[in-house]
Amino acid sequence: MELEGLKRGLKHLEDAGLHIENIVTDRHGMIKKYMREDHQDKNHFFDVWHVAKGISKKLETASKKRDCGNIRPWIKSSVNHCYWVAASCGGDSELNVQKWSSLVQHVSNTHEHCEHELLNEESLWLKEGIFFGSRAHKLFREVVESRYLT
Ligand SMILES: [Zn+2]
Repeated sequence: MELEGLKRGLKHLEDAGLHIENIVTDRHGMIKKYMREDHQDKNHFFDVWHVAKGISKKLETASKKRDCGNIRPWIKSSVNHCYWVAASCGGDSELNVQKWSSLVQHVSNTHEHCEHELLNEESLWLKEGIFFGSRAHKLFREVVESRYLT
């Protein structure tokens, strides 16, 4: 359905003589494929609202798993971080990835790559580490670094 609508919409605009350089859609798999294969001349962006919603849902699910309740307080700030990254990086995708992944460290109280002021409030940090790290941090990382976002 969505793909057919997009095809018709694009054809309609191009038939009318419009030159389309950028297009923003949701994250439909078929749309991604279609844009990649049939419209290489256009920049394809995702609507950040859909991305943020996906993250929020996935973190919500993760936070319900055993020992992962500590993820919950981070959901809202993760969504905010997502909007902030989108708004502050423009089209620079490398910078996007860099800023986005600082979140995984931020939640474990490592702020090397953060741009915020010194924190003076206590947060519920998720313990990171291969051997003694928390399950919560592991699942959090899985969501934030999932291929779904690329
Ligand atoms: Zn930080």
